Amino acid sequence: MNKRTFLKLCSAALASPVLSPLLAPARGDKLRNWAGNLQYGTEQLSTANSLQRVQDLVRKERKLKILGTRHCFNDIANSTDGFLSLKPMDRVVALDPDARTVTVEAGMTYGQLCPYLDAKGWALHNLASLPHISIAGACSTATHGSGEKNGNLASAVSALEMIEAAGNVVKLTRANDGEDFRGAVVGLGALGVITKLTLDLQPRFMMQQHVYQNLPFRELRDHFDAIESSAYSVSLFTDWRNESMNEVWLKKRLEPGWTSVAPPVFFGAKRATRNLHPIMELSAENCTEQMGVPGPWYDRLPHFRMGFMPSAGKELQSEYFVPRLNAVDAIFAIQRLHDRISPHLLISEIRTIAADDLWMSPCYERPSVTIHFTWKQNWPAVSKLLPLVEKELAPFHPRPHWGKLFAIPSEQLRESYKKLPQFVALSRKYDPQGKFQNEFLRTHIFRFLS
Ligand SMILES: Cc1cc2nc3c(=O)[nH]c(=O)nc-3n(C[C@H](O)[C@H](O)[C@H](O)COP(=O)(O)OP(=O)(O)OC[C@H]3O[C@@H](n4cnc5c(N)ncnc54)[C@H](O)[C@@H]3O)c2cc1C
Repeated sequence: MNKRTFLKLCSAALASPVLSPLLAPARGDKLRNWAGNLQYGTEQLSTANSLQRVQDLVRKERKLKILGTRHCFNDIANSTDGFLSLKPMDRVVALDPDARTVTVEAGMTYGQLCPYLDAKGWALHNLASLPHISIAGACSTATHGSGEKNGNLASAVSALEMIEAAGNVVKLTRANDGEDFRGAVVGLGALGVITKLTLDLQPRFMMQQHVYQNLPFRELRDHFDAIESSAYSVSLFTDWRNESMNEVWLKKRLEPGWTSVAPPVFFGAKRATRNLHPIMELSAENCTEQMGVPGPWYDRLPHFRMGFMPSAGKELQSEYFVPRLNAVDAIFAIQRLHDRISPHLLISEIRTIAADDLWMSPCYERPSVTIHFTWKQNWPAVSKLLPLVEKELAPFHPRPHWGKLFAIPSEQLRESYKKLPQFVALSRKYDPQGKFQNEFLRTHIFRFLS
């Protein structure tokens, strides 16, 4: 199934006044992830437009996988049995100015939520590179943006509602459910169907974005801390070819009354004279406004604009989280592989993320730096490179992004997550028969602890 067909199916479901029946893709169409690198294992796709419908489906089906906006590159969202999409459940349920929270239905995307919040005077603390993704799917895989003081997107969740395997409603809050809550937020789709999420808010703010070109690696080595703390959110892009960061994206918050003048040179890098795409050859039309033009938080924190193709489209992605303390060593370890990596790469991105307390988050109790790879869509080549990259990063105990491609063996993953046994126990509490499990979860999570 192509993207247009998927959207058509979902909007047909949205228009339906009653329960949406099973939606089979048109004959011959295949259900795929966003990048198209993965054909899912079944065409059976149901949609739900009410809590009752979710409960009925969960009770009826023996196996079920929840599909968000399909932006993962690996098998984490795959199923051979049947999918459930909550896309029609995309409304704001409540905005609570006193508690500074918003509660949304789980089918909503950041792109839908953010302009609404901004119009009401509110903001989220951070966003990923793209707003197109579902909030529930993003939080389930610990999706992140950048910024030394910014936790990943899941760290804004203060409450969630989900349907457990027996079809009952479960409500968990940060305030009342301590450990269970911290285990459930980055739930990898293993615990149940998230139907609502409550997110922390802050007053809306303005930002400006400047891009610099060609920051020498030696400056990075000597001044990494200063570079990373120079803006609210910092992204470094490199193709590893010239011992420099091709682009440095600085996203600054503009406090009321502030004006910020960007110097022409930043650690040896020159201020760009026009908007740029992280992949230089691609049109910056798809990207959020740069050149210091002030704009609302939701139109500067992501790199890519809603309504436009994010990134390159035909690509693969991998990303590794290493401890913030090892950032420079880890970056230079990858630099050693530049002649192997560069021919197969579209671009790499380096970001920082604050530590959190969510059990399955790659930033669990660890301030982190991420080294990301947007690869050309050539799996035979990329599959050979991933073990090399992981070997170089091994001294730094890398944790892979849950939604991207990696080769790290499950045994090693298990060692990386000290709360994994508790996570398995929590999953069993809500899903004793493994209704929401799939091959990915069995391989990486449940294999050792049956
Ligand atoms: C172009 C591009 C750019 C990206 N940029 C970033 C980035 O900046 N930072 C970053 O960290 N990641 C990034 N990603 C990765 C992306 O954020 C994650 O893959 C994210 O999980 C996608 O959300 P989704 O809704 O598409 O999830 P899906 O792929 O649809 O599902 C992901 C997981 O969430 C589960 N899930 C979804 N909805 C529910 C629900 N309601 N209840 C229970 N489980 C649910 C699924 O079962 C599955 O396990 C990017 C991906 C792409 C394609």
